[in-house]
Amino acid sequence: GSSFAHVQQAPEDPILGITVAYNKDPSPAKVNLGVGAYRTEEGKPLVLNVVRKAEQQIVADKSRNKEYLGITGIPSFNKLSAQLILGSDSPAIAEKRVVTVQGLSGTGSLRVGGEFLARHYGGQKIIYVPSPTWGNHLKIFPLSGVETRTYRYFDPKTKGLDYEGMIEDLRNAPNGAVVLLHACAHNPTGVDPSQEQWEGIRRVIREEKQLLPFFDSAYQGFASGSLDTDAWAVRQFVNDGGEAFIAQSYAKNMGLYGERVGALSVIVKGAEVATRVESQLKLVIRPMYSNPPTHGAAIVSVILSDKDLFEEWKVELKDMADRIISMRHQLFDALKERKTPGNWEHILNQIGMFTFTGLNKQQVEYMTREHHIYMTLDGRISMAGLSSRTVPQLADAIHSAVV
Ligand code: PMP
Repeated sequence: GSSFAHVQQAPEDPILGITVAYNKDPSPAKVNLGVGAYRTEEGKPLVLNVVRKAEQQIVADKSRNKEYLGITGIPSFNKLSAQLILGSDSPAIAEKRVVTVQGLSGTGSLRVGGEFLARHYGGQKIIYVPSPTWGNHLKIFPLSGVETRTYRYFDPKTKGLDYEGMIEDLRNAPNGAVVLLHACAHNPTGVDPSQEQWEGIRRVIREEKQLLPFFDSAYQGFASGSLDTDAWAVRQFVNDGGEAFIAQSYAKNMGLYGERVGALSVIVKGAEVATRVESQLKLVIRPMYSNPPTHGAAIVSVILSDKDLFEEWKVELKDMADRIISMRHQLFDALKERKTPGNWEHILNQIGMFTFTGLNKQQVEYMTREHHIYMTLDGRISMAGLSSRTVPQLADAIHSAVV
């Protein structure tokens, strides 16, 4: 018999499994609001024009080859990525306190950061993640060797931030612990702290306690439509002179999902420390995947270094953000029109790709079964997967699920 006969069937991933079920559904009316991937008004995946243009340049450039990159990836990509999140005038960059390595999108960057912390962090090897959070955080950090705990974040009663609970949990964390913060457009709740609340969080992390912020930036520019607005919180924490980790993803904001392109930045106190940190990051990466892939990072480098392409990217990015915001208004209006019981203001107030509807597991299962609408069981819907055509169908489904 097989030496693997004892292997048990694993459950589908709670998010990617939605697409598996969706693909099996023969109904022409089916709608996939599970996975966080942008769709056009016609329901099609979008390749940005600037990405097409950058790819054409890359293909035409005969001086490019398919050699291995260095362990830390394309140097210009790393520099431009740090400037994008920290601002091109960032004092931390000028002081050479920032080490940036290319990563396998946001996930791979979080994982390299996690393993580096597990090996070298001088504080408490415990990371606090929000409750709830993107499900993969709860797997990435324990597997990296960092104990993972949660802090209060979402208040189901107000469908907003549990600010008091969050502050209390951070105050009670052991000094030296790491705190994972969603840079903007919190997934899955769409609830972000206000600027005033961010300042309160920063004071606890930096002044009342000594905690290490680890930012997960998967939606820069995608939330508000502005790259600088969406980087505001991160910059507050870096411009105060303290240390920080940042994992960046270009999956959503450049639509480079499957190209797996992202970056990990480690901001430390002092240029010499930075050099040594970089040498150890290489030792984390080398046995894991040796070195990162070229194509996606080359696209990003071309776009970020060409003034015209950069400007064009910002317009395309804002178009995506605006379409999502308009879907929020259309869905809210459709529920109002139907006089669907409940307060749906949070559809308008939440930020980024998702709405955390407040629908429970039974209601979600009903909507999938009866209306062919696919979404995660926690009631999260991807607004980027909606269109003017599918809004009425979703509103009908929500209406009949709650009445
Ligand atoms: N963090 C958060 C909060 C996310 O929502 C995502 C995308 N779903 C990621 C990280 C990373 O995704 P990727 O690895 O595709 O960049």
